[in-house]
Amino acid sequence: MESKKKTYTLIGAGIMSATLAVMLKKLNPNSKIVIYERLNKIGAESSAAWNNAGTGHSGFCELNYTPEKNGAIDLSKALKISEQFEISKQLWAYLKSNKELGPKIAFINDIDHMSLVWGKENRAFLKKRYEAMNKYPIFEDMTFTEDFEVMKNWAPLMMKGRKNNNDVAMTRMPIGTDVNFGAITRGMIKHLESHDDVEVSLGYEIQDISKIGTQWEIEVEHLETGKNFKVQSDFVFIGAGGGAIPLLEKTDIPQSKGFGGFPVSGQWLKCNNPEVIKQHEAKVYGLADVGSPPMSVPHLDTRMMDGKKALLFGPYAGLTVKFLKEGSILDFPMSIEIHNIWPLISAGWKNLPLTKYLAEQVFQSMEDRFEFLQKYYPDAKIEDWELVEAGKRVQIIKEDKIDGGGKLQFGTEIVTDDDLTLAALLGASPGASTSVSIMLNLLEKCFPNEFQTTAWQSKIKKMIPSYGESLIDDGDLLRKTRAYTTKVLKLEE
Ligand SMILES: Cc1cc2nc3c(=O)[nH]c(=O)nc-3n(C[C@H](O)[C@H](O)[C@H](O)COP(=O)(O)OP(=O)(O)OC[C@H]3O[C@@H](n4cnc5c(N)ncnc54)[C@H](O)[C@@H]3O)c2cc1C
Repeated sequence: MESKKKTYTLIGAGIMSATLAVMLKKLNPNSKIVIYERLNKIGAESSAAWNNAGTGHSGFCELNYTPEKNGAIDLSKALKISEQFEISKQLWAYLKSNKELGPKIAFINDIDHMSLVWGKENRAFLKKRYEAMNKYPIFEDMTFTEDFEVMKNWAPLMMKGRKNNNDVAMTRMPIGTDVNFGAITRGMIKHLESHDDVEVSLGYEIQDISKIGTQWEIEVEHLETGKNFKVQSDFVFIGAGGGAIPLLEKTDIPQSKGFGGFPVSGQWLKCNNPEVIKQHEAKVYGLADVGSPPMSVPHLDTRMMDGKKALLFGPYAGLTVKFLKEGSILDFPMSIEIHNIWPLISAGWKNLPLTKYLAEQVFQSMEDRFEFLQKYYPDAKIEDWELVEAGKRVQIIKEDKIDGGGKLQFGTEIVTDDDLTLAALLGASPGASTSVSIMLNLLEKCFPNEFQTTAWQSKIKKMIPSYGESLIDDGDLLRKTRAYTTKVLKLEE
């Protein structure tokens, strides 16, 4: 007997909703999926290529994923993220080989991932990190050097005019990637739209969400006409990126209490000189300044934007009151309620170095920003660079159950109601690279019975062949999986 058709409503057309929609449709073909997006475009907020760094985060070059603790390098975060990125690549390869990612889109390119440090202590850290990582198959292609001639070969632009050439060290991973997450989002959603029971409504903003009996009632506004209407849904996913906190508050579920968020804006220096852009071919990450948030790790990045090479440096952070790049100045003030005012104040107080860092960033001049770039690219010329706006991140503040105040919550968090019929995704780090694993976790959490069935398990295994096995412990499986995704996604050098 066929079960009743379920309606799943997803709020926001970013990479998270797109990934969830694709997997839900595969797992439960007899379902109706409705996506509401306030903008008139798909994947146009944080998931858009110019709004994020496009790094396929794999733990290769991001030094903040491998902190040194009690004299040893803690690899747990880097290993987890690296494996999660292999999982994302498998879903994309599956969709690509089934022609389910839209027509001819180039969304992932291979590019070396490097780390660059200077100073005796930092060089020792990088070497120790490399030695610890190289023992794992997932990082086995990494090389380390303190030889300036080798570095000149790896990253010529960054070595030109460098004065501390006896004091630098680098690592290089030849299998890094640059990803256009916006293109993946559009590819997935465009293909989904070819199903009769998938509706994608652009220009529609969700105003309210309330539970009526066993159903969710969602109030939708068509922004162009100002007309409001209500729809019912069996399941709701709040995939609204920076806009998730205010929507979660509107649900009034007990689990929403104590959450708050403060927005951090991002900016890049974008190179406009084709001669300079030509000379760099890597994503090179450095070390974040002491006291700065993890999202401010500096990097000089080759990007591929719809087949065209670009060069970005940043990100620079700053204070803002908007939760979304296309948001409103009322976003932050309107999100402050009785339940989160104390956690917000207390988290700000407990993290004064971060608050100070953000305030300082706001008052930086172009010259200050440029001076920072010159630490990485000493011969840079100010006239080759312009400042452009990146996306916004909302730093999640969570009530600290121990002291009743607030604490910063890094990473992502899936908040659900008691009935598991509503889920909200908060936080954006490490981000789009791990979207497939995050959405698999959400499916397991919200659909616990269906998730364990043979039908769902075998479909997941088809989409993600390594699912259920460890790509960290099983080197042969990792190499086989990488060979498959490299071939399908055309990542051969
Ligand atoms: C500066 C910066 C650099 C980054 N670099 C990287 C990187 O290198 N690698 C990486 O993997 N990740 C990176 N990220 C993170 C990554 O961009 C995000 O994790 C990812 O794009 C989030 O996707 P999403 O679908 O949750 O959100 P979004 O892409 O922002 O989508 C949410 C959508 O919801 C819509 N929406 C909001 N409110 C409503 C409403 N009320 N009604 C209807 N629609 C609504 C928005 O318009 C938006 O389109 C970066 C982020 C930033 C800001």
